[in-house]
Amino acid sequence: MLEFKNVTKKYTDGTIAVKELNLKINKGEFVCFIGPSGCGKTTTMKMVNRLIDVSNGSILVDGKDIKQQNSVELRRSMGYVIQQIGLMPHMTIKENIVLVGTLLKWSTDKKDERAKELLKLVDMSEEYLDKYPHELSGGQQQRIGVLRALAANPPLILMDEPFGALDPITRDSLQDEFKKLQKELHKTIVFVTHDMDEAIKLADKVVIMRDGEIVQADTPEEILRNP
Ligand code: ADP
Ligand code: ADP
Repeated sequence: MLEFKNVTKKYTDGTIAVKELNLKINKGEFVCFIGPSGCGKTTTMKMVNRLIDVSNGSILVDGKDIKQQNSVELRRSMGYVIQQIGLMPHMTIKENIVLVGTLLKWSTDKKDERAKELLKLVDMSEEYLDKYPHELSGGQQQRIGVLRALAANPPLILMDEPFGALDPITRDSLQDEFKKLQKELHKTIVFVTHDMDEAIKLADKVVIMRDGEIVQADTPEEILRNP
């Protein structure tokens, strides 16, 4: 599904943020990248959705080098959730959830239907559809950010510290909710965190990074047994 082959990122100022990364992620797998601030996690995510270019090596999605793919198409084929979700403040929750529908030229009916369907996944009532982001709690806004990434039903979801800004209790319940959702949706998920408890709780595979390199990649059980 997603493969990194000797991937290196050198920024224009000379910083080598990622060094010769090699990793294969299977379809349906939930992989957590973990490591201290500055170890290259966000850089790795940004290369996958081509917000930035790979300096050396290649990233393959379904066997195809992302460099050879149309970048708009590529971004549509993956959902991206970040800590600062940035819901559109002047759009309703419904409009925010199906933002991608405008690009994909969905009819109003299709947008309505999809927004309702998605909102059910997170157990929020339909009355929220016509509200605005500021009327929702931080946890609810983050749920909407996740739904927005799911709207076009992409097989791959990239998440960069999606629950990082939430209080511990809300974060805990969102993690549980999301783990459940993941089992139902069968998505491939690449999840960035600096919280080992979160990684252990969510992942099928934990990838530990330090200074731009992978130092360990294993199941949570193995990581706990052999830290
Ligand atoms: P690229 O080499 O991929 O073109 P740039 O060096 O142009 O990246 O930087 C892209 C953005 O990242 C800029 O907005 C820049 O201000 C910001 N940036 C630069 N250095 C750092 C850094 N050390 N850490 C985080 N962000 C940075
Ligand atoms: P993490 O997500 O693990 O905190 P990042 O991928 O943001 O790490 O950063 C990895 C390294 O690359 C850090 O040393 C950071 O300062 C540097 N870096 C990030 N963005 C840029 C940029 N645009 N230009 C130059 N250096 C950057």
